[in-house]
Amino acid sequence: MMIRKFGEIAEMVTGTAVGGEAAMLVRGVSKDTRTIEAGNLYVPIIGERFDGHDYAKEAYDRGASATLWQRDRGEPPAGVPAIIVDDTLAALQQLAARYREQLPVRIIGVTGSNGKTTTKDMIAAVLAESYNVFKTEGNLNGDIGLPLMILRMDESTELAVLEMGMRGFGEIELLTQIARPEVAVITMIGEAHLERLGSREGIARAKLEIAAGLRSGGVLVYNGDEPLIEKLLPAAAKPDSMSCVRFGTSDQNDLQLGRVGIEADGSSFTVGSSQEPVYHIPLLGRHNAVNALAAIAVGRHFDLTPEAIASGLRKAQPTGMRIEKLQAPTGLTVLNDAYNASPASTRASLELLGELTGYGRKIVVLGDMLELGGEEEQFHWEIGEFLTPDRYDYVFAYGPLSVHMAEAARLSFPPERVRWFADKEELAQEVASVAAPEDIVLVKGSRGMRLEEVVHKLMTLQ
Ligand code: ATP
Ligand code: MG
Repeated sequence: MMIRKFGEIAEMVTGTAVGGEAAMLVRGVSKDTRTIEAGNLYVPIIGERFDGHDYAKEAYDRGASATLWQRDRGEPPAGVPAIIVDDTLAALQQLAARYREQLPVRIIGVTGSNGKTTTKDMIAAVLAESYNVFKTEGNLNGDIGLPLMILRMDESTELAVLEMGMRGFGEIELLTQIARPEVAVITMIGEAHLERLGSREGIARAKLEIAAGLRSGGVLVYNGDEPLIEKLLPAAAKPDSMSCVRFGTSDQNDLQLGRVGIEADGSSFTVGSSQEPVYHIPLLGRHNAVNALAAIAVGRHFDLTPEAIASGLRKAQPTGMRIEKLQAPTGLTVLNDAYNASPASTRASLELLGELTGYGRKIVVLGDMLELGGEEEQFHWEIGEFLTPDRYDYVFAYGPLSVHMAEAARLSFPPERVRWFADKEELAQEVASVAAPEDIVLVKGSRGMRLEEVVHKLMTLQ
């Protein structure tokens, strides 16, 4: 973590130090009094419901060495060393940017509509074969999370894999300017956040902002199956000198997915036409094999051998609720993909379910996909059309938008095989009564739908 003198930090954030010794050592940064550690700099964030300034004294009493303090919030608490700034969030971001420039670390930034966390974890697993690697913890990928992640690194960090998320324009630009990556990865373009960005083209443009902070001579690794990235890249802000590596399933890519096999404990694949090496990832699905291609590209950039890359990929740890395979007490197999859903990721997971062999019937449990803007009903309808009785046996839908999905599915399924529910508990009961031990259930929906409740119910029913 960052260790700097109080006076140095005041300079780094262009603030005014009050009430502390310039030579006092500050260790690390925290915005949360509940997890604050001795010596931390407390950063009071002003949120919609809370103002972190109200907790500055408490943070100090719990061991913080000092606090940032926004000028318009009056005087800092008496006796608490403080650095007065115009805006605490901007100061946190500036601190991270300055600190980053002081570190020898080489950074890999990862953005995209889906698959950022998964790809970030795979890249880190690969690079850890040869380097001391830091990676974004969990999903801390935003304008607060990314600066906090940077401030957690130290001089010993050789490479850092940082996830960059966004909801609107300008957000990835801010993050990439703070992190100044040497490698920027765009996993794919989907429909998430269409509400704010207007169109898929808008989404692609927002993701391409990652190139704006790329270091001169850096590499942009992107999904070459997406024509929009290719189309918008010439107009995107980017360094004068950079190179591109494209990955994907089609043959215009530098790294093309070869043969893919979906196995019980993960997926195997080859690259291009070469038979060797066969890469294995402990993650299910063709889309994850495509994500892994990005990790291979990054591994090559940092001079890892194919053997080291393959070894790293085998060790990648799946994150919870992303197609997590579970076994219910009844024997029923549950694919818990309740973390989130968009049209692209729902299709990817349905493809996987369609390809899986060795199970009885295939049961689909889908909740609403949120934040899709004006065409949201259409998107749900299209998923309903994608569901066909030759690949899936039952459809259980939950949520007001999923009505359209169920309606479209009813056009091809026998009516009793498509059910819509307004209640998750009832839905889970019904799935449990239909499902046999050899069957498999996929559960997926947007975060706000909390379909993990259905998973938990299925996992506890005897
Ligand atoms: P968030 O925006 O919430 O941080 P993320 O981009 O980090 O999401 P992950 O957490 O890695 O994404 O994966 C979320 C879901 O996206 C997975 O459960 C999977 O269904 C889907 N997904 C992952 N990679 C792809 C891909 N390349 N194409 C389509 N869907 C994908
Ligand atoms: Mg994520």
